[in-house]
Amino acid sequence: MKELYSNVNIVGGGLIGAATAISLCKLGYSITILEKNPTYKFGNNHLDKRTVAISEGTKLFLSKINVWGEMSKYAEPINRIKIIDRESTNTLNFDNERRNSNLGYIIKNKKLLDVLYRIILDEKKIKIFNNNLINRIQKNDQKIHIETQRHKIISDLNIAADGKNSQIREILKTNLYKKNYNKKAIVINFSHSINHENTAYEFFYKDGPLAILPMKSENNKNVSSIVWTNNNDYSNSLNKLPDERLRIILNEKIEKYIGNVLKIYSKQLFPLSAHLNVKFYDNKTIYVGDSAHSFHPIAGQGWNLGMKDIENLYEICLHYKRLGIEIGNDNFCKKYHNNTFYRAYSLYQVTDKLDNLFQQNSHILNFARSVGINIIQKNNYIKNAISDFAMGFN
Ligand SMILES: Cc1cc2nc3c(=O)[nH]c(=O)nc-3n(C[C@H](O)[C@H](O)[C@H](O)COP(=O)(O)OP(=O)(O)OC[C@H]3O[C@@H](n4cnc5c(N)ncnc54)[C@H](O)[C@@H]3O)c2cc1C
Repeated sequence: MKELYSNVNIVGGGLIGAATAISLCKLGYSITILEKNPTYKFGNNHLDKRTVAISEGTKLFLSKINVWGEMSKYAEPINRIKIIDRESTNTLNFDNERRNSNLGYIIKNKKLLDVLYRIILDEKKIKIFNNNLINRIQKNDQKIHIETQRHKIISDLNIAADGKNSQIREILKTNLYKKNYNKKAIVINFSHSINHENTAYEFFYKDGPLAILPMKSENNKNVSSIVWTNNNDYSNSLNKLPDERLRIILNEKIEKYIGNVLKIYSKQLFPLSAHLNVKFYDNKTIYVGDSAHSFHPIAGQGWNLGMKDIENLYEICLHYKRLGIEIGNDNFCKKYHNNTFYRAYSLYQVTDKLDNLFQQNSHILNFARSVGINIIQKNNYIKNAISDFAMGFN
């Protein structure tokens, strides 16, 4: 078995693990990444067809670690967001005039990962080991030892970035709260007849939200992505429909806003669940991104919150580095937990309650929602607070 030393070991080289590696490498730490996939695929055949809505706050951090310049080439700005309750006239409109910036950016997950890996492959301080599953984790002499079938990595700090079904969480027996929504989101990428004008829409239907996200045009075609949540049976049947029939159903929802569906490029189903680890550290290991928390995608904030975890970690490491203290001790891990847990707890509650609120169909709640939406639409103070939250500014 090959033995290696790194300042930081990261388990999981997905959207969060890869960004964590880049940010900590900027501070001069040596990094190892253990990833279970055999390889990362560049080109057209990456499996995840989703897009991510990058908030303005995340963009600022990506700029700080010199990633945004390259990423921005693939990101379509969002200038307006329209939130619509059912098909009614209850509408909330957000624009970007107040802060004189965009509200966010839509980018394909595949492009995001390609950009991160192009940077990683150029960094001498980052070593990636693919096709690795963890066999054992042990704390020894103030170091953490991580064993796979082929390697033993000895580090000051271990970072779990291995997604919502984290193997590290199981090995370390870190407890969690979990909720299964018994719903699936279908993600459909397609071209359409009318320009999206950089507007994102979110419709709140009884069975779940439907978001239309403006994407970069491809071959001069208008392209968008739909994320539509429904009960399992309905989502499964949508997924099985031939494109001709799916287009008719989608047209009913989107025609008024971005015209007709011309071509469906991809469709994919995602079962929805949410979880929150009871703590974000254990045994010289900290949890970042979906290994720590996952949410209903109603607010499109899961990856953005993972990026906030990374930003917090970056700031703590910078502080420790300036003081000349080794990272990964108990105080370090607790500080990371204190800086990240409560934000995740709030988002867990907000996304869960929001989903619940918009599902209700009693006359009283429908009326209350409609009054609430009208009050928010007319009240700039509340509207600004909501848009600041969505943009990652508070
Ligand atoms: C339908 C949908 C739409 C979404 N839209 C948005 C959005 O618009 N904006 C937003 O901010 N968020 C969004 N999210 C959330 C976002 O996709 C996730 O938060 C993000 O992908 C999490 O990234 P991650 O790297 O933490 O986890 P993952 O993407 O799950 O990556 C985990 C990585 O770890 C590897 N791994 C797993 N186990 C092991 C192991 N034992 N050993 C080694 N490696 C391992 C995996 O192969 C993978 O590479 C959405 C989610 C869904 C379901």
